[in-house]
Amino acid sequence: MSRRRRIYEGKAKILYEGPEAGTLVQFFKDDATAFNKKKHEILDGKGVLNNRISEYIFTHLNRIGIPTHFIKRMNMREQLIKQVDIIPLEVVVRNIAAGSIAKRLGLEDGEVLPRSIIEFYYKADELDDPMVSEEHITAFGWATPAEIDDIMTLAIRVNDFLSGLFLGVGIQLVDFKIELGRHWENDVMRIIVADEISPDSCRLWDAKTKKKLDKDRFRQDLDGMLDAYREVADRLGLLHENEPPRGKGPVLVKTD
Ligand code: UDP
Repeated sequence: MSRRRRIYEGKAKILYEGPEAGTLVQFFKDDATAFNKKKHEILDGKGVLNNRISEYIFTHLNRIGIPTHFIKRMNMREQLIKQVDIIPLEVVVRNIAAGSIAKRLGLEDGEVLPRSIIEFYYKADELDDPMVSEEHITAFGWATPAEIDDIMTLAIRVNDFLSGLFLGVGIQLVDFKIELGRHWENDVMRIIVADEISPDSCRLWDAKTKKKLDKDRFRQDLDGMLDAYREVADRLGLLHENEPPRGKGPVLVKTD
């Protein structure tokens, strides 16, 4: 991997030049960071789990017609992706109150929201990713009103897909963050889902016990973060793929 030209290094991933024009290689690191890197640890194997979970989700999004940058997983830590121009926004969709919205609006953690809520944050570490409105996004030219419409439609479609996927394996999708990019096919530009979707970027609670199966374990100094990520991968049927009779896909968990 070090033979390839490094294009960008973020907190949890590195992007390398891809084998063909218009492609990149996305490498998943074991670094866990929170509070804008104020907390940082290496968790052996996290990158492998996130690569696999994100591959599974993006493959299914592609299959149901939600365009993403994902092309294929190359090995334990790397995937081949389409090169996009990243829109400098973190798009958060929330179904249940937790984290910053609970604090900001004085909601109980776990309160079901009146409907799914989409929020935008401006991607700027030096500013701690401030929340912004459509007014800011259009005024500063980060996206046009038509692009915001596309982004919101994609975000809701991803939410519907993920909510169903996780509920089927006994997990509640509390909220998640996606990033999007502009991708040109010939002369046509379209917005596609980029980055990753993994327990690093979602809040996932066991539907029965409400046990946190996501990065909040790290943020809140709870132990067992890697076990929780492994649990998510296992419930999605990703851990024992080569060992029949398991690995046939998600295992249905009845919650009621
Ligand atoms: N999130 C993320 N990256 C960020 C900030 C948030 O992936 O830089 C995800 C986070 O994991 C959660 C959702 O976005 O699933 C909403 O996060 P929130 O605004 O509640 O912020 P937090 O409490 O994580 O600071």
